[in-house]
Amino acid sequence: MDDPHAPELTDEEENSAALTERRYREPEPPEFATSRGCQLLDEISLRILEIRLALLVATEDVSLRLDDFYPRLAALEVLADQAVGAARLLLLDADLDEAWGSLPSRPQAVFARHKAAVTRGSPSVFPVPSSLRHFNSAIRTIASQATGPDWRARPQCPAIIRDGSRQCSNGVLYLGDNAFASGCFSHATEAERNRHRQHQDDRNEANVEASRIAHLAMTGLGRIIAEGWLRRRHEPGSLFQLINQPDGPFRLEDMEEAGKAAPAD
Ligand SMILES: [Zn+2]
Repeated sequence: MDDPHAPELTDEEENSAALTERRYREPEPPEFATSRGCQLLDEISLRILEIRLALLVATEDVSLRLDDFYPRLAALEVLADQAVGAARLLLLDADLDEAWGSLPSRPQAVFARHKAAVTRGSPSVFPVPSSLRHFNSAIRTIASQATGPDWRARPQCPAIIRDGSRQCSNGVLYLGDNAFASGCFSHATEAERNRHRQHQDDRNEANVEASRIAHLAMTGLGRIIAEGWLRRRHEPGSLFQLINQPDGPFRLEDMEEAGKAAPAD
């Protein structure tokens, strides 16, 4: 690193050189994201999703309870989704409020800084959601097809309570197909109560079916992912092969080869 022919610098000169360098470095380089960077982060979010889906089918080959993975993966999914969103905000050159420090911002801080800029009048930028978020909303749609209307939106029961003091405070029974009973469970007719029970049974059955279909969709994908991983494991150049080659994973010529393949910048 040091040039042996360079004249030796006094401490003072060295300090002043360091100062000049520091001054030269200001202002901070603009925050940025390349589209390659956005794609890479989106792929990282998909790798985390792949782990979740592969875990679903791993238990077909090993009798272990692997539930502890899911909350941790869910936390990683949130981080990855935020990273994609923040990178896309940078790619789209969204206005950001001043950074709080000189280090690059965390994804959440980029969102907060953009929100602050918007409250000061900058245009709102809406980055395309990550592929992971697309997947999760698609699965939610499949799994929630049978939930029906919001039960909290039921009209209030019109009956007067037994002591005659006020109107019943319960909601009326929902009978399915946007129909409501004439009263709550206590004040509806026997026929309405039966129709309500039938509707609940139908809906439970439909919900069970919807989650079964969502689970099938996810395990189907999990199988495709697991098979792909196991196939690539034995292909030359796979991480497994690199790690297990006789002279270890960090062969100089491999790294030089990888260095050549990397883009010039
Ligand atoms: Zn009532």
